[in-house]
Amino acid sequence: MAEGNGRAAKHCGQGDIASLKEQIGACRICVETPVRAPLPHEPRPVVVLSSTARLCLSGQAPGTRVHASGRPFTDPSGDRLRSWLGIDEETFYDSSKVSIVPMGFCFPGLDSKGGDKPPRTECRRNWHPQVFRSMPQVETVIAIGKYAQDYHLGPANGLGLWQRVAAWKEIWQETSKRYEAGEGPRILPLPHPSWRNNTALKKNSWFDGEVVPFLQEHVKTLLRPDR
Ligand code: SF4
Repeated sequence: MAEGNGRAAKHCGQGDIASLKEQIGACRICVETPVRAPLPHEPRPVVVLSSTARLCLSGQAPGTRVHASGRPFTDPSGDRLRSWLGIDEETFYDSSKVSIVPMGFCFPGLDSKGGDKPPRTECRRNWHPQVFRSMPQVETVIAIGKYAQDYHLGPANGLGLWQRVAAWKEIWQETSKRYEAGEGPRILPLPHPSWRNNTALKKNSWFDGEVVPFLQEHVKTLLRPDR
């Protein structure tokens, strides 16, 4: 992992998490001191921190619907992600079980073609190291899409997103060893569940056949209350 937490790190309590959440909630960096063009709207960070969740979903950035709702994955992508994980909405939004840390906490705006802009880099520079340090209990990070994979696994070195997802077993084995050594969470790379990936998902049917069943089984084990 390029940048992340480690099991040996100090366990943060609810107070630390609450304070960090408050600081992020008040963040105006992308309006007041942006590294490029400022956000075209008021910041509305959407992130779920937790002092107990063993599972972390690390995705891209809120889209227009999530920006409006202020709640992560309240869109068709969220429905597909929940079906991949094999969990219902109640579990998905239970912050004692699941933390949600996108690579950009605020909706970055739309590009000239109407697509979402990339996540703001200010978030990664200013928040992510301390966010992941604040959740050393996280055992597994689901890295959803290129930006999260670059952060948690390092640059792809020429590998396309689907090539990296296709290497999920090797990545899982390697990061599991690191996890066992207390050097950070296990990582599973996933494509983004957006409808924009429908064609690629159809073409890479091994994803539904191999990765999704593995993911569902792991999440079931991870969320078992008796663990
Ligand atoms: S995207 Fe991140 S850094 Fe920018 S205003 Fe939102 S929380 Fe702050």
